[in-house]
Amino acid sequence: MRLSPRHIFPFALLAASITWIFTIETLPPLEPLVEEVIEPLPPPQPVAPFIYEFPVTLSLCPKLDVANAPLADTALHIIGYTATLTINDVTLARAPVETACVSSGFGSRNGQVHTGIDLYSLEPVDIYAAADGTIREAEYRYDFGNMLVIDHGNGVFTRYAHLDSFSGLKVGETVQSGQIVGVMGNSAGYLIPRHLHYEILTGEWGAQAASFALTPVDALAIPPID
Ligand SMILES: [Zn+2]
Repeated sequence: MRLSPRHIFPFALLAASITWIFTIETLPPLEPLVEEVIEPLPPPQPVAPFIYEFPVTLSLCPKLDVANAPLADTALHIIGYTATLTINDVTLARAPVETACVSSGFGSRNGQVHTGIDLYSLEPVDIYAAADGTIREAEYRYDFGNMLVIDHGNGVFTRYAHLDSFSGLKVGETVQSGQIVGVMGNSAGYLIPRHLHYEILTGEWGAQAASFALTPVDALAIPPID
């Protein structure tokens, strides 16, 4: 007997149904639907500026008659000294050097106003950027020798004079708090002991007078300026 498609069809349908039932049975159970929970992102936090850990003590130079000396204890440590001070929301080092002592304070001296503080070291120690900023001036002057001025924003600047070198820094380059910007030297048009003349300045940098249009601030003013 010849099988026609008409005879085969019911058997094929039955076989397909059985296969389907067994396939259904062998399928793994469905996983319960879990709703994906998306955690809300935390609000963006303002990035705190990095502040280098500058030395927390500073002393007056022994055996020196320090002009405008801040109050010091019997070990010559400056009383109430803090590593940094904050002006116009800019936190700056009071003494941005590897190691040094104060050989002259801020204020009137020999009939003139000493517009910064002098930090002395026998060795040619590293000088650091007092805070993050941009180099505004990098030049040689007869009075200040190799001189750098850093702009820290918010009308706050720092000046570093008598540097031995500039560490290759040029005007417009950015520096970070604690970055080495030079080496203590005695560069000037006349003979001076090795030291850093350091100024903190505020105001508006002048097109004509440049950093000399700014107002100097005593870096050792204690309590801290806010
Ligand atoms: Zn000085």
